[in-house]
Amino acid sequence: MSKKIIIAIDGPAGSGKSTAAKNIAQKLGFTYLDTGAMYRAITYMALQKGIAENVSAVIELARSITLNLKFENGITRVFVNGDEITNEIRNPEVNAKVSDISKIPEVRAEMVKIQKKIGAEGNVIAEGRDVTTVVFPDADFKIFMIATIDERARRRYKEFQEKNVNISLEEVKANLQMRDDIDSNRSVSPLKKADDAYEFDNSNVPIDKELDILLEKIEKIQNRV
Ligand code: C5P
Repeated sequence: MSKKIIIAIDGPAGSGKSTAAKNIAQKLGFTYLDTGAMYRAITYMALQKGIAENVSAVIELARSITLNLKFENGITRVFVNGDEITNEIRNPEVNAKVSDISKIPEVRAEMVKIQKKIGAEGNVIAEGRDVTTVVFPDADFKIFMIATIDERARRRYKEFQEKNVNISLEEVKANLQMRDDIDSNRSVSPLKKADDAYEFDNSNVPIDKELDILLEKIEKIQNRV
């Protein structure tokens, strides 16, 4: 039997990290760790409580809530203190605020603690802005996903349309650009490619082809470790 490994996928918003991570997790029976869902959950709760502008209250919230993720049938179900907020965390209001909340170092420290604990169990595929650089710098396989801004906006717009969310393609693109900007320029754990990450531009790669390419690489790594 091959050794338990950690795969980490980083990259900008809408680059297809989640799709790749979910597909790999389902195919290999790995635990899928959606770190963005965790920052979204804190953001949603902070907005609900009306404390999103109060940094110390947000830190207190991050330290006190019980966050659970359950990956089932291709979706990450998110629970806070036992209540499910799976759909709510994808709202445009959360999109607009999440990058500000995830800039707070103490919030990140809390989330990273939970992420490392999940990673320690092995056979995990983690996805998010800093998983290759900060959370799992020693991951067995690091992927940095990229795609053009237009392609990323098109994908997110399609997701919103499927959920009947009323938002224009221009607004989606502007939100992605804003998040790229905040995520890349923040002082703590900025979005950046790890030196030893495999850069994958999937702008023109069909999803099944992408999965084949990544699985082939993972198999080689599993045989090596
Ligand atoms: O991946 P997703 O779009 O769900 O992430 C939402 C936001 O959460 C990102 O734009 C980023 O601001 C933040 N995030 C982060 N670190 C992670 C994952 C997400 O700062 N590891």
